Amino acid sequence: MRTILVVEDEPQISALVRDYLEHAGFAVVSARDGEGALALARRQKPDAIVLDLGLPGIDGLDVVRAIRRDSAVPIVVLTARGDETDRVTGLELGADDYVVKPFSPKELVARVRAVLRRTEAAARPAERLGVGPLELDLARHRVTVGGRSVSLTPTEFELLATLAREPGRVFTRGQLLDAVHGFSLETYERAIDGHIKNVRRKLEEADPAGASFVRTVHGVGYALEEPGA
Ligand code: CA
Repeated sequence: MRTILVVEDEPQISALVRDYLEHAGFAVVSARDGEGALALARRQKPDAIVLDLGLPGIDGLDVVRAIRRDSAVPIVVLTARGDETDRVTGLELGADDYVVKPFSPKELVARVRAVLRRTEAAARPAERLGVGPLELDLARHRVTVGGRSVSLTPTEFELLATLAREPGRVFTRGQLLDAVHGFSLETYERAIDGHIKNVRRKLEEADPAGASFVRTVHGVGYALEEPGA
């Protein structure tokens, strides 16, 4: 059974999240503050962490930073509505996804399942990646959409491959910039927007439905997924 560490200082929310996760077949351990979270993360080695960013004591973002120093455990952060800065900073520090409060517990469970799936998929090295009609051949640097080939620059290819390795994951511009480091001389995050625009245009030229796979996450970054998934 996989264990989820839930870090939340509000007892009602914590109990609700625990109920839903247990009902979904997970074992749950919980902490009410950052100190407790770090101690439990070390001792219990959970398979994933649900972490409220608004905690007493150590700030939630510092908890993410501290966990990432020695662990790649998937982290889903809970953020206050409207707090885009925390959301972006959380992702930049290495959180895998975020859910905005007030949230539906069902949605949270779905996100936890998704980060676990992605982590497991990322652990298996793949030569080919596929998202719907989109296929990437990593060894040959080839992309096809609906069987038609798309000609991308090395930077565009690397961006798309980064998104495709973890479909549905939201990447910030900063993370995408890191991913293409060594392929590009541009140093501005806004350059990512230009590359994404080119990727979309080329996918669309090959298949009119192609461009809709690259989703803009307002105020955060980009994700690759099947429309409506
Ligand atoms: Ca809180």
